[in-house]
Amino acid sequence: MTQVFNFSAGPAMMPQAVLEQAQKELLNWQGLGTSVMEVSHRGKPFMELITQAEQDFRTLYHIPNNYKILFLQGGARGQFAAIPMNLIGEKGKALYLNSGHWSATAAKEARSFCEVDEVQILEQGDVLKIGNLDFSDVAENYDYVHYCPNETISGVEIFEVPKVGNAVLVADMSSNILSREIDINQFGIIYAGAQKNLGPAGITIVIIREDLIGKARKETPSIWNYETQAKNDSMINTPPTFAWYLCSLVFKHLLATGGVPATETRNQAKAKLLYEYLDHSTFYRNTVAKANRSLMNVTFTTGNDELNAKFVAEATAYGLQALKGHKVLGGMRASIYNAMPIQGVEALITFMQKFECENA
Ligand code: PMP
Repeated sequence: MTQVFNFSAGPAMMPQAVLEQAQKELLNWQGLGTSVMEVSHRGKPFMELITQAEQDFRTLYHIPNNYKILFLQGGARGQFAAIPMNLIGEKGKALYLNSGHWSATAAKEARSFCEVDEVQILEQGDVLKIGNLDFSDVAENYDYVHYCPNETISGVEIFEVPKVGNAVLVADMSSNILSREIDINQFGIIYAGAQKNLGPAGITIVIIREDLIGKARKETPSIWNYETQAKNDSMINTPPTFAWYLCSLVFKHLLATGGVPATETRNQAKAKLLYEYLDHSTFYRNTVAKANRSLMNVTFTTGNDELNAKFVAEATAYGLQALKGHKVLGGMRASIYNAMPIQGVEALITFMQKFECENA
């Protein structure tokens, strides 16, 4: 097979058109005779880039004017700490909805900063399924409620927004940001590491409702203080300029290819194809309830570790990269983020059929 498809969970594949544009202007950005990574982050050309990037992101995701957008460092994990440092107030505690690895990791980190109540929302049974999401009766006891709408490792996605009354809802959208339309107004904070749907690793987006800025505890380091960052255009220190630039190209690319609605339609089509194939197969299986199957990370197994390892090795040789499941779960995982074309999913299914014929 000549064309390679990269199913990595993150850092993940980038849109080809974006890489080509970056390549084209690498040595001479905006006619400056230098690359974008070599110019001052405070100079006019770069400041124009970030203003446009923010505008494009706002347009793409329909972000209301009472929300600020921060472009930070430290990955999503940095936010696991920044969120309690910035949001814990008079109530002194937060509620974490546990749906798997990443939401549990966020809760663990938060425990260093505040009292945390954790509630299991993943129902135990034959399939992975999200249970009741109505927390409106208890949410007001907490400074915020945190959840992870897409658990990257297990491939469990939560399509319904938890009910939290007037409490502040915080969402880790690292692996599903910009993948489908959402109503930003339902959230206090949305954050995401860039390396799946936004751009390369090294930059983290935080969408924050303005009234939540300015509440940080006083010992909060300035790089983690939302107020300081908001007042300084997310440039309290030298930002990851090249990553920011690549994100700006991704936003332009998404706008030029139909925005989030068209992206969502493509994502639905890709996921449907793969899950329907899995459902008809007696050789492979996916163990996520239909209502919670991720559009971004599709997990599957043959049920046999040796066969799984053989699958991954042969798929790699065939040009289908990074299909090995996360080490905590095993099996296989196909991450089919926004940048994955449907041809990648079709090629995967063709390979899966061939592997089944040879190994069933
Ligand atoms: N949350 C989710 C949902 C993730 O998928 C990941 C990374 N795979 C993280 C958090 C951690 O992100 P980072 O490595 O950017 O800290």
